[in-house]
Order: sequence, then structure tokens, then C-alpha cells
Amino acid sequence: MPELKCSVVTCVHNTQNYCELDAIEVMGNTANISEETSCGSFVEIKDNEYKNRAKDASVTSEIKCHARECKYNDEYKCYAGKINVVGSSASRSDETECATFKK
Ligand code: SF4
Repeated sequence: MPELKCSVVTCVHNTQNYCELDAIEVMGNTANISEETSCGSFVEIKDNEYKNRAKDASVTSEIKCHARECKYNDEYKCYAGKINVVGSSASRSDETECATFKK
């Protein structure tokens, strides 16, 4: 499983730039550049949900990925050793992206 670093601090699943989910889905069926990908597992955090989280996020996550043009994609799975999801001020999924995408 790839190491998943994520700077989307506006997501409810983000803990100190890691993702607490064991598996995420990256979107981008027709993506040719990283900006055309997005994290399909993004859920915007609400004001009253900001809190110090006791839970530790694991460093790795299973990545189901629809960006089939990416060189790390094989049969909808990501085989990059490490990926970076970015979009620090995102309020919607399509404002996030997999910055590791490479055509
Ligand atoms: S590196 Fe490529 S295959 Fe892996 S999640 Fe990002 S876009 Fe998908």
C-alpha cells in the first residue's frame, strides 16, 4: 500500500497531514494532468468538528484509483510507493488532486 500524505486539512479524515481511512478512492477517469484528478473520499469538515483528534492516522492506505492514464495505475490500483493529495483550502472533492499523477 502506498504511503499517503494529504494536505487537505479541511477534510474530516485528515489528521496531521495523513489520512485516517484505510482505503481511499481517487477520481479522474479521463485525467491527463494531476489537476483533473480528485480525492473521492473527501468529506468537508464542519466548524463544530474542529477538535484535537486522539486517533492516529496510519501512514499507508489502499488507493483505488480511476485515473487510468497515470503510469502508477494498474487495474484501478495505485502502485506508487508514496502519493501526495493536495488542496489545503478545498471545500469540495474537485478542489483536491493527486499531485503524484504522472501520465
Ligand atoms: S499516483 Fe497515479 S495511480 Fe496513484 S493515486 Fe495518484 S493518480 Fe492514481
